[in-house]
Amino acid sequence: MDEISKIIEKRGIKPADCAYHTLRDFENGGRLRALLIKGETITHVEYKCPECGHVAYTTQPWVPVSKAASVRFIVECVKCKFKIKVEKLKGKKKKAKKE
Ligand SMILES: [Zn+2]
Repeated sequence: MDEISKIIEKRGIKPADCAYHTLRDFENGGRLRALLIKGETITHVEYKCPECGHVAYTTQPWVPVSKAASVRFIVECVKCKFKIKVEKLKGKKKKAKKE
């Protein structure tokens, strides 16, 4: 789980350069970190699958969602196909270190 850290370091990304940056904890020790850099349309995602424990780094297009949507985006585990849902934080109790 250090691919996004490497990107940030290598490219000198500062918080002000991030359009979206989140770190989520899931059950069973699962985690997900996502980063969207301003001016880009590709979301960098790395995760530890809450279902099978697989750790991977991937990218996917940033897709706008409606304001009413409760899920910001979904990442599918390449190994077990579990769908990791990243819910919006607004109005939710879920904790996040950065949003
Ligand atoms: Zn999995």
